[in-house]
Amino acid sequence: MNLIYPLAVPKGRRLSCEVCDAPAERVCTACTVTYYCGTVHQKADWGSIHEKICQLLIPLRTAMPFYNSEEERQHGLQQLQKRQKHLIEFCYTVAQKYLFEGKHEEAVPAALHSLRFRMNVHGLNSVELVPAYLLLAEASLGAGIKDVRHRVWLVTSFTTDSRQIYFASCAFGTEDIRTSGGYFHLANIFHGLEKLELSDTLYTKASQIWHTYLNNHYQALSRARSQQADLLGKRFLNDTGLDEAQEAEAIRILTSILSIRESTFSKEPQKTILVLKTLSLLYFLMMDNSKAKDYAMRALGLAETYRSVEERRVIRNLLDLIYSDEEQEGHATT
Ligand SMILES: [Zn+2]
Ligand SMILES: [Zn+2]
Repeated sequence: MNLIYPLAVPKGRRLSCEVCDAPAERVCTACTVTYYCGTVHQKADWGSIHEKICQLLIPLRTAMPFYNSEEERQHGLQQLQKRQKHLIEFCYTVAQKYLFEGKHEEAVPAALHSLRFRMNVHGLNSVELVPAYLLLAEASLGAGIKDVRHRVWLVTSFTTDSRQIYFASCAFGTEDIRTSGGYFHLANIFHGLEKLELSDTLYTKASQIWHTYLNNHYQALSRARSQQADLLGKRFLNDTGLDEAQEAEAIRILTSILSIRESTFSKEPQKTILVLKTLSLLYFLMMDNSKAKDYAMRALGLAETYRSVEERRVIRNLLDLIYSDEEQEGHATT
């Protein structure tokens, strides 16, 4: 375990700590390709995973040898990929084993490596990253992230590109309602970790997905309805285009987010308004006009304090829609 002298650091390349990404000050003398910010992280990594993979990292982290032919080069690349995939599985299994034994702190570096190697192999936008993220979140949650530097790493990495990674990695695409459960789940993890800004973003994302879906669905419905009404002279029943389980999930997600929004006295009422509007639209399409009205009225009340003209106009339109639907229903029954 040596200090890295400035001269030993290649020009233009910032060496960073294996565990927290802070500028490195030490190198593992056994492999000479792994760097640390200090002894704390070096020891933590060694005890968790590095001792087991130290030698395996050497071929991965040293420059590729010179190959005589393209064939040889391809073979070399394949070997590299194979090694990386092996490491991914190995680190993942080790992290899982620690978690199973309740050793959360030991699990963190192993989970972290499982994620990093996945990023190397699969890129930043792969569905393959999801299990590693969840494992890391679980390990960090259990460990309580007492380590400030690791905490910083976790937050910055999750807040920058990782959000997009997670989003894009969901198999259904970033805006699909089937993805909203994933956002919601991850948001809850971060809420538990008291990463409130991050959970906030994720809750907003989940709300937006439902809002966009329901809004588009309503637009399509009313277009179809106006065409059909000309032909048949009768109105169509509302529907959400969802099955019962999906409707139940939408309600569960949106009402959970709403209670979180309301309990945190958000300084941004427009986020609460978004959830209220979405719930109103959902109940409207489910033909529960009294609940739809209730949520829309609450949204309007908030919009008044927030003094957004545009927001109020949108909510009034929604209310008009609900009222006119009620009227039509009245006519239909008389
Ligand atoms: Zn470190
Ligand atoms: Zn090493």
